[in-house]
Amino acid sequence: LHVVHPLGKGQTVPLTPSQAHYLAGVLRRGEGDPVEIFNGHDGTWSARIDTLGRKAGTLVAESQIAPQRNAPDLWLLFAPIKKARTDFIVEKAAELGVARIRPVRTAFTNSERLRRDRLQAHAVEAAEQCGGNFVPEVDEIVPLDALLDTWPTERHLLFCDEARSGAVTGLEGLSAPGAVLIGPEGGFADAERRRLEKIARTVSLGPRILRADTAAVAALTLWQQAMGD
Ligand code: SAM
Repeated sequence: LHVVHPLGKGQTVPLTPSQAHYLAGVLRRGEGDPVEIFNGHDGTWSARIDTLGRKAGTLVAESQIAPQRNAPDLWLLFAPIKKARTDFIVEKAAELGVARIRPVRTAFTNSERLRRDRLQAHAVEAAEQCGGNFVPEVDEIVPLDALLDTWPTERHLLFCDEARSGAVTGLEGLSAPGAVLIGPEGGFADAERRRLEKIARTVSLGPRILRADTAAVAALTLWQQAMGD
C-alpha cells in the first residue's frame, strides 16, 4: 500500500477510507495481519494492522524489507488523448519507470480537462500492483511552448516523430537526464516540429505509425534498452 507518512520502526500510519475498505472488505484482513507499505522515499516496509474498521484504521511499521528504488531520471511528456488512453499511458509509464509524467498541450491537443489527481491515483495503483516502491509525480498540464521556453539544456529531449519513418533511430549514445515527448493523435504542427528540431533529438520508433499510447510504451522500452535502467 502507498502511504504518505514518513516510515520508521514503530511509526503509526493512518489508513485512508478506501485503504481500510480494501483491507477489511476486499482482502478480509484483520487486526494483527501483515501489510507491505511504501511512501516513495523510505523503501518498502512490513507493517501490522493495529486497528481496522470499515472506513478507518491504523498500521504500525515494523521493519524495512526492501530499499528505496527510484525510477531513472526520465520524464514522459505527452499530449493527452481520450480519457481511457490517457489513463493507460500514465499507468504504463508508472510500471515501466519514469520519474515524472508531464502532460503538455500542443497545437493539435483536443482533450478536454485533465484531472491531475485521478492520473496521480492511477500512477499509485500501478506502483502498488507491480510491487514497486516509487511513484512518478504527475504534473498539471502545461503548454508545450511554455515548457520549451525554459527547457533545461542538460535534459536530453527525445522528440518522437512519426514523420521520421524507417528504422528505429535517435536513441544512440543517450544519457540521463532525459525526456520522451509523444504527440497527440493529430501529430505535431509544422511550427512545433521546426522548434523541436532545434532543441531536441528526433527519434523514430520504427516504420509504422503507432497510436500515441503505443508510442509511449515503445519509447520508454527503447530508453530502457538503451540505458539499461
Ligand atoms: N500525425 C499522425 C497522423 O495523424 O497520421 C499520427 C500521430 S501518432 C498517432 C501520435 C504520436 O505518436 C506522434 O506524435 C509521435 O510522437 C508518436 N509516434 C507514433 N508513431 C511513431 C513512430 N513510428 N516514430 C516516432 N514517433 C511515433
